[in-house]
Formats: sequence, C-alpha cells, structure tokens
Amino acid sequence: MRAWLKFSPDIVNKAIISDAMKKYNINFNILKADITPKGGKMLIEIDGEQVEEFIEYIEKRGIYVDPVKKVLKKDEEKCVDCGACVSLCPVKAICIKEDWSVGIDNQLCIGCGFCTGSCPMKAITIME
Ligand code: SF4
Ligand code: SF4
Repeated sequence: MRAWLKFSPDIVNKAIISDAMKKYNINFNILKADITPKGGKMLIEIDGEQVEEFIEYIEKRGIYVDPVKKVLKKDEEKCVDCGACVSLCPVKAICIKEDWSVGIDNQLCIGCGFCTGSCPMKAITIME
C-alpha cells in the first residue's frame, strides 16, 4: 500500500518506523519525504504480511497514516504531450521524458487532481 505518514515535532526523532519495520518484517520504500525537526511528512510504499499490524503500531505511537487510494490514468490517444500538467503536480509525479513525451509516475501520485483540470485534452482520469 501507499500512504502519507505525518510526524509531529515531538516524535520526529524517535525510531518508531525502524522498530516497527523490524517487528513486523515490512518492506518499506520512501517515495518522497519532507521532514525537519519541526515535523513533516513522508510518502511511502509498504508491503508484507503484517502491514495492518505495522500501521496500528505506528499510529499508536503518534504517526498519522493517510492511505493513498487513487490511481491516475493518462489516455495516450488523447494526450498531445503539451506539458500543461507538468508544473502543477505538487509531488513531481509528472515529467517530460527524454523523447519529450509526458509521463506520469503512479508511485508518486497522491491523487490531488490538480493535473486533471489543467489538461486541455481531458486525457487524465483519477480512478478510486
Ligand atoms: S493527481 Fe496530483 S499528484 Fe497525481 S499526477 Fe496529477 S497533479 Fe500530480
Ligand atoms: S496536459 Fe493533458 S495533453 Fe498536455 S501533457 Fe498533460 S495529459 Fe497530455
């Protein structure tokens, strides 16, 4: 699953995640992070047989977990690679590739929808 983890300043230096990873044998991948001593957030991808127990453990210790449930689809027939959607993405999930086509990384997308309204071709759809 993919989720945003949010940390308050009082727990930002605690080893909650690493303890939980060891305890529940979770594969943990950080896709994006913005954390300072004042707190912050992290977009993660996790899997394992005890994901639910992992989530419960970290929530009990003060980490707010906000699962990402949306998936973005770009209709390649409609997209004209104009790039209008690229700069609007807050997590840099949309990029211009080496061949100048526009690509969307669903691993990073948080489903905010900023790109869908910007597309003149209505090529982007968010699926729940
Ligand atoms: S829905 Fe939001 S996060 Fe996802 S690609 Fe579009 S702008 Fe980026
Ligand atoms: S705004 Fe629409 S047409 Fe333009 S690159 Fe993005 S998805 Fe393609």
